[in-house]
Amino acid sequence: MRILLVEDDPDLSRQLRQALADADYAVDHAADGEEASYLGETEPYDAIILDLGLPKIDGTAVLEGWRRAQVTTPVLILTARGAWSEKVAGFDAGADDYLTKPFHTEELLARLRALLRRSAGHAAPSLVCGAVRLDPRAARATVAGEPLRLTSLEYRLLHYLMMHQGRVISRTELVEHLYDQDFDRDSNTIEVFVGRLRKKIGPERVETVRGLGYRLVEVADPAPRA
Ligand code: CA
Repeated sequence: MRILLVEDDPDLSRQLRQALADADYAVDHAADGEEASYLGETEPYDAIILDLGLPKIDGTAVLEGWRRAQVTTPVLILTARGAWSEKVAGFDAGADDYLTKPFHTEELLARLRALLRRSAGHAAPSLVCGAVRLDPRAARATVAGEPLRLTSLEYRLLHYLMMHQGRVISRTELVEHLYDQDFDRDSNTIEVFVGRLRKKIGPERVETVRGLGYRLVEVADPAPRA
């Protein structure tokens, strides 16, 4: 899952970027409204965290611009304490959720998980596909109850595939949602990660659809262990 964090306060930005990275998200950061506006319109994020008080263009105007440009990405706004009219303006501009500063990082992460889940059409907090289960709260996954040891990128890959299970996902889409802006984006590396994930969860669970991409398929029985 790839997140855009828009926040101009350097300390808070640093803290949130770290917390998001620790939760296995790919994170891009914008420190002003202009950069935010550009990134939000050009990059396919899974969710956006948007501070409303920003230099250059204020957050509400940035959000209005995205919605005008048909950007449907879920947006969680960060508002100043006591500024109830900011919240109203934010929701009217197209926000999906809000948090008032100061907030606990844990609450932000919980709201983000809920937002991502709802936008992908899942109501339950854990994702299940056959014998594979992924719990975004703990950032862990199991196959038939056995814990999987996944690297951060393998986890992101599995998380994305599980969010969109049953649908064919192209390599380009995976590159766009698993890596941040600064990552060396070579779509061939996706094959490598898919290969590693297959080894860990059972090769039959990730189907290759020739010329189109990959699809996570439901396999009820645990894969036979060699
Ligand atoms: Ca601010």
